[in-house]
Amino acid sequence: MRTKDKSVSLEQMSPAMWPMANRVDHVYREELGYELMITAGSELTVKHKKGSFHYPENTPDKFCRAIDCRTRASKYTETQLQGDKRIDFHNKIIVAAGENFQVIDEGNHFNIELDR
Ligand SMILES: [Zn+2]
Repeated sequence: MRTKDKSVSLEQMSPAMWPMANRVDHVYREELGYELMITAGSELTVKHKKGSFHYPENTPDKFCRAIDCRTRASKYTETQLQGDKRIDFHNKIIVAAGENFQVIDEGNHFNIELDR
């Protein structure tokens, strides 16, 4: 897994996020042929919803509990995964993330957050 560029911060990430990200990374490699690309983490430079778990100050333990994940169809395109393929991939990521995580399809990325 990697971040899309240096603007993405993984500081203050909840330790519980890493095993989940590893599981999700495997599914990316198997299903899409590229590694998990994190497009947003704990940086304060990106605007998220009010109360978002990207912002450490909003979580009970003051850790970042959300990552955004690229959902392009392949490594070689900017086109998004679409239709049944997207639904199928979303379901696989939900299973890989596990029951403590919520995986929300935001249209051009998945937001994965630790809710428990
Ligand atoms: Zn997000």
